[in-house]
Amino acid sequence: MSPIVEDLVWLSRNLGDPSHDLAILAEGNASARDGDSFWVKASGFNLSSLTEDGLVEVDFPAAYRLLDKASLSDAEIREALKSISVGSSGLMPSVETFMHAFLLALPGVGFVGHTHPTPLLSLISTTSASDLAKKRIFPDEVVCCGPETVFVPYADPGLPLAQAVMSSVEEYIRHREETPKTIWLENHGLITLGQTAQEVLSGTLMSVKAGRVWLQGFASGLELKPLSAEQIDRIHTRPDEHYRQALLRQLAGNPIA
Ligand SMILES: [Zn+2]
Repeated sequence: MSPIVEDLVWLSRNLGDPSHDLAILAEGNASARDGDSFWVKASGFNLSSLTEDGLVEVDFPAAYRLLDKASLSDAEIREALKSISVGSSGLMPSVETFMHAFLLALPGVGFVGHTHPTPLLSLISTTSASDLAKKRIFPDEVVCCGPETVFVPYADPGLPLAQAVMSSVEEYIRHREETPKTIWLENHGLITLGQTAQEVLSGTLMSVKAGRVWLQGFASGLELKPLSAEQIDRIHTRPDEHYRQALLRQLAGNPIA
């Protein structure tokens, strides 16, 4: 197994670990860039028990080109997914493969994880979700999840969702001049981007923790006070935080010291 595939299997199993409550059954998917191709979970496989045999290698440029297609029928999508698969496993890549192609092409992204965590689904499905995505409660949330989260209004899974993600992420990059670390999909779930598998897991777990903080704050009836824009920028641009972020990309095990 190549180191990239090994890391992707490790990430997938961690994202599917029942103790994290990030995805059940065949929910969620993960991917990793590997030169001119990328690996993504095959449709119908469970993250929790994923092995190399549940991954499909995809032709990167061919998948990326399909993002421009205004609309395709379900049958055309199935054909397109088959046509961009490399090898003869016969497995169908996840329907979210187009979204992974777009995200893996962004600067600094080597791995992508997509999950449906219960606490975040509660937040992401509220009318306040787009406002909450911009807020940060504590410093490690800034370090692991970025200074704000991209919010994507609900879109049909598959190509329409990939195009909606592309539009919201491009707007974020124009505004922030950097690649985001986390993306909320309204009424759907979370996407986490990272240079390494560890960075994706750290960002995912920290997003879920922040979600629980919000929910517990709401339940207590007390008003939470988020960090100010100045406090967020200070954490985000501190040299020692950059050092910490670099360490977090490499460390296995518990990501946060
Ligand atoms: Zn999903």
